[in-house]
Amino acid sequence: MTALSPEILAKYQPVIGLEVHVQLLTETKAFCGCVNKYGGEPNTHCCPTCLGLPGALPVLNRKAVEFAVLAAKAIHCEIRETSIFSRKNYFYPDSPKGYQISQFDKPIAEHGWIEVPSFDMSGAAVTKRIGVTRLHMEEDAGKSIHDGFADSVSKTYIDLNRCGTPLVEIVSEPDLRTADEVFEYLTKLKEILLYTGVSDCNMEEGSLRCDANVSVMLKKDAAEFGAKAYGTKAEVKNVNSFRYIRAAVEYEIERQIGVIEEGGRVVQESRLWNNAEGRTYSMRSKEQAHDYRYFPEPDLPPLVVGVEWQAEILKGMPELPEARRARMIAEYEISAQDAATLTATREFADRFEDAAKKAKSPRRVASLLTSELTMRLRAAGLELEQSPVSMAGIVMAADLAESGELSSKMLKQLLDSAFEKNEDFPVVYEREKPQQISDTGAIEKMIDEVIAGNAKQVEQYRGGKKTVAAFFVGQVMRLSKGQANPALLNELVAKKLDALGPL
Ligand code: ADP
Ligand code: MG
Ligand code: ZN
Repeated sequence: MTALSPEILAKYQPVIGLEVHVQLLTETKAFCGCVNKYGGEPNTHCCPTCLGLPGALPVLNRKAVEFAVLAAKAIHCEIRETSIFSRKNYFYPDSPKGYQISQFDKPIAEHGWIEVPSFDMSGAAVTKRIGVTRLHMEEDAGKSIHDGFADSVSKTYIDLNRCGTPLVEIVSEPDLRTADEVFEYLTKLKEILLYTGVSDCNMEEGSLRCDANVSVMLKKDAAEFGAKAYGTKAEVKNVNSFRYIRAAVEYEIERQIGVIEEGGRVVQESRLWNNAEGRTYSMRSKEQAHDYRYFPEPDLPPLVVGVEWQAEILKGMPELPEARRARMIAEYEISAQDAATLTATREFADRFEDAAKKAKSPRRVASLLTSELTMRLRAAGLELEQSPVSMAGIVMAADLAESGELSSKMLKQLLDSAFEKNEDFPVVYEREKPQQISDTGAIEKMIDEVIAGNAKQVEQYRGGKKTVAAFFVGQVMRLSKGQANPALLNELVAKKLDALGPL
């Protein structure tokens, strides 16, 4: 593919819609009692129902419904009280029934949205709402394991362990306009799903899979005709990382513009992303597309999720990332960026909040976690769980820094030491803490110096604002490089200031 000039690219408006499949973390499969677990000896997690043997009947997994409702509500969908399972008929070796139980015209949820960070025409940062057309329930197929790629497949093996795994499919409106927005949408969706706990969203294991529908149209047509001018879409299937999806969408946009610029037409087709080559390949065209002949699944009654059951399910809804960030910013007076880092996972946010409640300054805990600790963990290639410094250690370090007993330089040295020796902070602190100055005369000299240099605060104190004493303690602590005996310092500061008498 020859590179297109920025001028040519700028004439076109890409349009993208995503279909995301998410495996639900139920104990058992969607319609039988088989274990729902990744891996295992091939073809050992199967029974007559998930193998689709004649006469075997499906029974819907209640937990799968609850997870679907939770996921749907978390992305602002409306729940349909009575939804219908349908058969989607097609033959594929890894789907032995010859059909997939899915939902068609009456899905369990519709009309949701997800907000993503983006940019407006002028380049200013904005929040953009991407519509979610629907969320429906279905079952996964088994796996075909190919030897080779595309034209050169020599053997294919079938593993039916995954057959019947409960899925939700989340279909977006064609509201996405750039590969970056695609990346952001997926990032937000995954974050929300992880918070709800309905899926582990592990992309390597295929718990979250994404198909991207991409088309392009001329910007002038977009302005004039809007959605009516959408171009023909091609679908890029089953890319297994968000980065690759972004690359695949970028590639696909340029490919389609190239086709049109050369006077050709984009054909409606499914394409596969080859990461090694950084390009997409045609997989099957619309002519070979399936006619699924959907009809209501005769072996399952309509699914009724009434108001009461919905309310019951919603009791399990955790505080979601966006709301949690907003609350944490207000409650702990931390920056938006720190809040974003701290809420990256629900566990991290829980641990931070737990620590923040015990610390003198949550802000300082936040900054220690997001800068000093994160930096050292990254350098050592460790996860938070593997950190030599515990959360209690972080709280202690933050408190010592807050009271001025530790200078920031000293704090960094102690943390370095903790990581070098693989010891928790309190251990290192006890051994390596700065020598304390307990010489009354020396401390008094420093207090005098600070009093002389801060007339305004002295006035405030003498005017009755006793809390200003902390300011003096902090200043002297800094002057002593964190070495003044804190108890003695506190006592002497109060004594010195009181000796000045009220105003
Ligand atoms: P299909 O019936 O071919 O699967 P759907 O209408 O169900 O198509 O849409 C599937 C996905 O494709 C949705 O995410 C939708 O937003 C997206 N989509 C539909 N039309 C376009 C288009 N012209 N360009 C990009 N994406 C599109
Ligand atoms: Mg589709
Ligand atoms: Zn089974």
